[in-house]
Amino acid sequence: MVFTQYNFDEIRLPIVERNDLFQRSVGETTDIVEKEMYRFEDRDGTVLTLRPEGTASLVRAYVEHALHAREPVSKLYYFGPMFRRERPQKGRLRQFSQIGAEMIGRDDPAADAEILLLLTDLLSDFGVTGAELQINTLGDRTCQPGYRAALVEWGRAQGSALCDDCARRLTQNPLRLLDCKQPGCVALRETAPRMIDHTCDACREHFARVLDLLAAEGLEPRLQPYMVRGLDYYCRTAFEVIASGLGAQNALGGGGRYDGLVRELGGPDVAGIGFALGVERLLIVLAGEEAAAAPEFVVAPLGAAAERAAIALVHRLRRGGARVDVEPGGRSLKSQMRHAAKLGARYVIILGEDELAGGTFSVRDMEAKVDRPHVASLSATAPELRAVLAAEGGGRMERSA
Ligand code: AMP
Repeated sequence: MVFTQYNFDEIRLPIVERNDLFQRSVGETTDIVEKEMYRFEDRDGTVLTLRPEGTASLVRAYVEHALHAREPVSKLYYFGPMFRRERPQKGRLRQFSQIGAEMIGRDDPAADAEILLLLTDLLSDFGVTGAELQINTLGDRTCQPGYRAALVEWGRAQGSALCDDCARRLTQNPLRLLDCKQPGCVALRETAPRMIDHTCDACREHFARVLDLLAAEGLEPRLQPYMVRGLDYYCRTAFEVIASGLGAQNALGGGGRYDGLVRELGGPDVAGIGFALGVERLLIVLAGEEAAAAPEFVVAPLGAAAERAAIALVHRLRRGGARVDVEPGGRSLKSQMRHAAKLGARYVIILGEDELAGGTFSVRDMEAKVDRPHVASLSATAPELRAVLAAEGGGRMERSA
């Protein structure tokens, strides 16, 4: 739905790709390529890989099918399983699913803003409320080499305080120093140079404009100056969505700009930007938020006729966007009320004989502890009911329950 609103089309990508695609794009010295890919040989000796991520596949398809010749800007989304041979734990699986989106053909800051707005709209559409968007700039071909040199100088000065992997990264791929998960290296990182202090004028202006466009829409991502992301193809804007409740694996999604990647994979020199969200982590976050949430209304029907009327009422309220539960009609009001309280209901809708005869229902406000007899008609919608309940009224509970 959100993808359609942003005018993105779906692309279905294969699960298996040639191994060298990821070596060339994700990067030889990244964890993914060094340690995590499931590789196997085809009958003709070609080395294939279960894809560890979607962007490289998507760009491969873009180049192979010359999508740039069809339209100057391609806006595509995908969904499917990814495979990484990581150590499994909560939120980290060897097979997981991603939802991703890519915009290829635009290098202007408004494209970055659009991708980030799409990401946040998507998350809010899924019902995620507490996530934080973090952002950084990684520079480009002009300014990144200078930053790498500054990082190498800093890394050398740390000497043996860096872990063995980082000592190797120092010569092979210094940006990966910032990605190290070893506690000692993580602590040292605060003293490392920051890309934001080494950007060229063009990158600085690009980044400032992205932030400005986002701020105009009320989105203020937190600057995370040491975020580099685990893949080598990123430049300029990089971002992650961090959610609480995920434990150590706290990234719900991430992405960034990859302006050299299409050309690197044999296509024209066009820019790109995109993101991927981890579906299993999304489900963990939503399960946490759901558990914390309680029904707005619980309907308590008294008897068979009331139960029948309750079905229509509940259905209408739910279609109006409310979170609603309904009790079985054969039980006493007392036991229904007890269960509604256990569910944490904000309001209990009481449908007894009196109410049915008048075509109305009564509401008990569980927070304010007041009864609102015959407060609305049986045909009320969720917005109508909320409006009535928001108005002053009600008395002390009288009905015995
Ligand atoms: P990445 O591009 O590696 O940052 O991955 C994007 C998102 O995919 C992450 O933020 C996670 O939500 C999800 N993800 C990555 N690796 C895994 C994994 N091994 N298990 C579950 N989800 C993952």
